[in-house]
Amino acid sequence: MTKKTTPEQMDEDQTLDLALRPKRWEEYIGQEKVKRNIRIIIEAAEKRGDKAPEHMLFHGNSGLGKTTLAYLMAKEMKTGIRITSGPAVKKAGELAAILTNLSEGDILFIDEIHRLNKVCEEMIYPVLEEFNLNLVVGNGPMARTVDLKIPQFTLIGATTQLALLSGPLRNRFGATFRLEPYSQKEIEKIVKRSADLLGVEIDKESIKKIAERSRFTPRVANRLLKRVRDFAQVKKDGKVTPEITDTAFKNLNVDKKGLESGDINILNTLIEKFDGGPAGLKALAAASNERQDTILEIYEPYLVQIDFIKRTSRGRVATKKAYDHLNKSYD
Ligand code: ADP
Repeated sequence: MTKKTTPEQMDEDQTLDLALRPKRWEEYIGQEKVKRNIRIIIEAAEKRGDKAPEHMLFHGNSGLGKTTLAYLMAKEMKTGIRITSGPAVKKAGELAAILTNLSEGDILFIDEIHRLNKVCEEMIYPVLEEFNLNLVVGNGPMARTVDLKIPQFTLIGATTQLALLSGPLRNRFGATFRLEPYSQKEIEKIVKRSADLLGVEIDKESIKKIAERSRFTPRVANRLLKRVRDFAQVKKDGKVTPEITDTAFKNLNVDKKGLESGDINILNTLIEKFDGGPAGLKALAAASNERQDTILEIYEPYLVQIDFIKRTSRGRVATKKAYDHLNKSYD
């Protein structure tokens, strides 16, 4: 979704994420296989008497629950967790400060790890393998290296773009988990749970409508619920009904598939300016006035998932389903 555009929106999302984040494994709905395997790794490490389980990589679209899993792991392991992200760590010194402040058994969660800069990435290799930090201190002829022992910790890397992760970094993770989109039923459960937590009165039909437009992503489902709730509070007594839900989505320009103006713009550009494609990413970005990484990370994954766009070796192609959805003739 396009929502991550303004700082206010970021804050609002983060507050909502925090309020609704599952605190126990039972509250974390779906992803059963991933949950089971993670718990096995934790248990096995405990039985062996390891100071920390092996490093893990989580990949999957934004909002599928990667950060939440890391929090749940820390809770299960009764350890501390430190959260940062690839783009937030700009200098080697900053990464060194984070690493040297870890305690034994801690979890270090690096979101968007594919965006960690090269210097930091190379610095972290020996840390991941031997918990050894080779720091260069001083400049020019005075420069020297110091070796620092880092307490054993577990790195959890999260990425939306597995293909952008370098081979050497990928190889340093003991286990890789892919988070899948949720089923309609699972998202309905998540919406129900969130409505209860937010004290929102809502019926089954409205829950179903929200889930259908959620892109099968918990964060989106929660955000839609909140927007519908706001609408109900302004227009009515705060109770969410199917009518209010429909009116809210109409006003918010969210269509039946959960597509919004940004997604529609990409599809229209592909269909109208490129005759349905194929179009390369660069050309599509220029013609739609969107950034390449926004297309790649925000719009495209869902449009590909619902089979509206196909990625071919020659570029992106709009499918018949996309034409039908937009009421355009496909010949
Ligand atoms: P990611 O790190 O993959 O971007 P998060 O872990 O931050 O996603 O999840 C976003 C929000 O979605 C969380 O705050 C939580 O409220 C909700 N959420 C994610 N996964 C689940 C789940 N499996 N069950 C219930 N809620 C979830």
